[in-house]
Amino acid sequence: MTLFPAMFDGPFSTGIFQRAREKGLVTLNTHNFREWTQDRHHAVDDTVYGGGAGMVLKPEPLFNATESIIAGIREGGWKGEIPVVLMTPQGRLFSQRTAEEYSVRSHIIILCGEYEGVDERIRVHLATDEISIGDYVLSGGEIPAMAFINAVVRLIPGVLGSEESALHESHTDSLLEHPQYTRPPAFRDWKVPDVLLSGNHQEVEKWRREQSLIRTAIRRPDLLKKAHLSPKEKQLIEKLVKEGKITPGEE
Ligand code: SAH
Repeated sequence: MTLFPAMFDGPFSTGIFQRAREKGLVTLNTHNFREWTQDRHHAVDDTVYGGGAGMVLKPEPLFNATESIIAGIREGGWKGEIPVVLMTPQGRLFSQRTAEEYSVRSHIIILCGEYEGVDERIRVHLATDEISIGDYVLSGGEIPAMAFINAVVRLIPGVLGSEESALHESHTDSLLEHPQYTRPPAFRDWKVPDVLLSGNHQEVEKWRREQSLIRTAIRRPDLLKKAHLSPKEKQLIEKLVKEGKITPGEE
């Protein structure tokens, strides 16, 4: 649900979206809720009760639009839940875990706010979830919606080229991904680590896991607390910190 459907033209018709839509793995529809206004001026917003700057989205258009789309989905035979996700900087912080939750849903309605935001009754009585993509304020919910949709859609089986690539990624296991290299083996004075060229898969896996642990310990010690580490791995991190080889928060 957006006042600016054209913003989605690019993202929805390129890259992973295009392929996923062509393969029939996902259907993406934009609805301009201005079409559900009933007054002569097609007003979607109004001034704030109690005074103050800016305009707030009125409840009627968003309620009417959302309820009519839900009715259509029901007519199509779907009896399960239909989450209605409001994009708002006041929502719960979006994460890979949330993306995973939504990737198994069969229908999702996303509400994009605008201006000063939405009438509180939309938040309380229409939305079933509120998502923020970070602690900063954008001018509308479209870019947050695109981020949300992108993270969710790429987890749908078959969307990414290789199933592998979603498995070891940053945040999947509360760890950041290990460094990645491609050809050439030496670029300027910078060489690819020998172990990656060794062909020894066991050693490569060991190196990757260690790098992933070290990188997370340095950059995101907060994440490391949530990760599933073996006792050996915990010891390794403690040892590296003690020896001064890594300092959480510095690289
Ligand atoms: N006055 C509001 C902010 C309005 S920003 C407040 O202080 O909470 C306008 C719209 O942009 C919001 O309704 C929301 O849909 C979207 N938006 C802005 N920043 C966002 C963020 N970090 N995450 C999700 N949506 C955001």
